[in-house]
Amino acid sequence: MRDLLFFFPRAYEDRSKIVTVDELQEGVKASVHLEVVSGRKIFTRAKGRNLFEVNARDGSNRTIVLKWFYLPKGYDQKFQPGLSITATGTPKQYMGRMEIIHPEITFGTGVGVLPQAQSPSPPKAGPGGGVVIKKAPAAPAAPAEDPLHVGRVVPIYTEIDGVTTRVLRRILWDALEASKGSLGDDLPARIREKHGYPLLEECVREIHFPTKESIPIQSLLDFETPYHSRLIFEEFLKFELLVLRRRLQMEKEIAAPIGLTTGEKSVSDFEKLLPFKLTGDQRRSLDEILKDLRETHPMNRLVQGDVGSGKTAVALLSAVAAIAEGHQAAIMAPTEILAEQHQKNAKKLYGDRIPVYLLTGKTKTAEHREILAKLSAGEPCLVIGTHALIEEPVKFRSLSLVMIDEQHRFGVEQRKALKEKGIHLDREIGRVVHPHFLVLTATPIPRTLALTVYGDLSVSLIREMPPGRMPIKTHVIKSAGRSKALEFIRKELHAGRQAYFIFPLVDASEAEGFQSLKSATVAAAQLQQETFPDLKVGLLHGQMKGDEKEAVMTQFKNNEIQILVSTTVVEVGVDVPNATVICVEHAERFGLSQLHQLRGRVGRGQHASFCFLFSHPNTSEATDERLTVLEKTSDGFEISEADLKIRGPGEFLGTRQSGALPFKIADLVRDQKLLFAARDEALELLKIDPDFKLPEHRTLRDYLEREGALQSGLLKTS
Ligand code: ADP
Ligand code: MG
Repeated sequence: MRDLLFFFPRAYEDRSKIVTVDELQEGVKASVHLEVVSGRKIFTRAKGRNLFEVNARDGSNRTIVLKWFYLPKGYDQKFQPGLSITATGTPKQYMGRMEIIHPEITFGTGVGVLPQAQSPSPPKAGPGGGVVIKKAPAAPAAPAEDPLHVGRVVPIYTEIDGVTTRVLRRILWDALEASKGSLGDDLPARIREKHGYPLLEECVREIHFPTKESIPIQSLLDFETPYHSRLIFEEFLKFELLVLRRRLQMEKEIAAPIGLTTGEKSVSDFEKLLPFKLTGDQRRSLDEILKDLRETHPMNRLVQGDVGSGKTAVALLSAVAAIAEGHQAAIMAPTEILAEQHQKNAKKLYGDRIPVYLLTGKTKTAEHREILAKLSAGEPCLVIGTHALIEEPVKFRSLSLVMIDEQHRFGVEQRKALKEKGIHLDREIGRVVHPHFLVLTATPIPRTLALTVYGDLSVSLIREMPPGRMPIKTHVIKSAGRSKALEFIRKELHAGRQAYFIFPLVDASEAEGFQSLKSATVAAAQLQQETFPDLKVGLLHGQMKGDEKEAVMTQFKNNEIQILVSTTVVEVGVDVPNATVICVEHAERFGLSQLHQLRGRVGRGQHASFCFLFSHPNTSEATDERLTVLEKTSDGFEISEADLKIRGPGEFLGTRQSGALPFKIADLVRDQKLLFAARDEALELLKIDPDFKLPEHRTLRDYLEREGALQSGLLKTS
């Protein structure tokens, strides 16, 4: 029952005012009381089907035509002359008369349409059923029959399984009647009163069937009434309680404190070996991490920073603290290329002082065996790898710091799998010990998501770029500007620079319906033969073997290839400072955050860099408009907020969890303010009563016990 009552309208329609035919305005949806003059079925030979047309008039004898391009069941029988109806729809002028195509009809509202003549044959109920005409009252504005569909603000529901909004309206009305007095209220009175929210039952009723004339329809449409607000707030509050309580529970877990002896000293020693000075934000993030590591409960931290903001250095230095004190640390990256790049960076920084191992699908058997032996023996080291790290046989003896790079590329279970390799029983203290956990992402997460799905993580932000970075000039290009852009690119290439061309798919036949997409393979050949015959074009895609990819990437790094045609495998991590141009074909197919990440492939050296977003000629203006966000800003956080508005949370949650947010009525974009308020309230509540012992919190405790386990699966970490 509760589920049914919480199936809320997606919109409303104001049918509280009934107009006359004269008052109808073309294109403006309205309701009008009518009496049927005649109804006829017309068979069209051309189309081979029935039309249905009704002539009707209002109280002042103005006529209107109602038209259906099919024959609604039973209508030809039902629409007898004299029948009283209310028609709702969007009228238009046709052949000098008003007509409404496919109006919604409510039968039996024969209210004062023709006051002098009673309807001769009062009809039975409408499709909702059960309503029998009694006697038509006289006042035109007070329809006596089926009050659900006319004479009020009516709810519009999303049709489910062909059940129309009209039928749903009836079902919900009945459900509300049946549930009167039985809907419990989970929101403690203290909180409800503080925010001035009505009781649950009133809210549910007013959301389905608004009665308050003081509330403008626009507030209803915007989900901004106190009734909507309360339910939205309550959803957020419950979710935040869940998230924060989990955080409290995690804080009760035990972890090995790191950095108290030699660790932090070693970090500053290694920091001096870096070829650059940490930026302020890198510094602050590192300090936040080191502070977490000193604790006896596990760190759960997310480092967010745009592509190129220098997250690797922060991760490598953090690892030093653990390894210097005899622990093992691991970094898992989504691709081999990226894992290898990290390994190179680590070796550069660590020299011979700290062992670094690389574990990927490519690692040779003998070496693989050797690395596994060292990990299980507990050698203090850094291991960097791909998914190969989470395979069954990989065992650690003292994995105390787990790091996930480009975390959104992994599923919850994968991250969890690596983390679990660090859980072990410490015989000395007789307790289960958990590893510290650090996730890195170059896709900044909108603040609302950081408070919900990522709410159990602490967040460090790196907003500041290393010094000397030049802004990347970005242009959205339609077919017209294409040749000019290519001319420009040619100049860059002849000046010694390199370029990426990114395509969404490897092969045009890869996915059905995407046939029209140019394949990277075909395009590479074309670019080589026709566009840049004097330069060398290389191809990189996800279906190539690891060593083939490696070879191409190395050639590009060494400038043996000037143009790299690629699918999105280059999206993450690779660093080629001499590349100054990136072109994205079919840019309209990508999310803004993803494009922003791709763009981060360039602008890594001392030369000015450029990004060309080629959108398909058929792309809508709205889509091109969306792309221009990238022309205007290079702030990943701003871009992620825009992306959230346009594409929804799925863009950030990864394919596995897209659309899996548990909110029935709340919306992360629309209801940000309520989220922040609910978050504050949840923090406050947990401060007063962390174990929900107070009687006023009993309902919430019951809720968390009931739903908590179900919903916690939606959190990004576990
Ligand atoms: P990301 O955050 O995308 O992982 P990286 O860690 O790969 O970025 O860093 C990008 C580049 O910036 C690397 O070449 C790195 O050596 C360089 N870098 C990192 N931090 C600094 C800094 N503080 N000053 C100058 N260069 C830096
Ligand atoms: Mg990185």
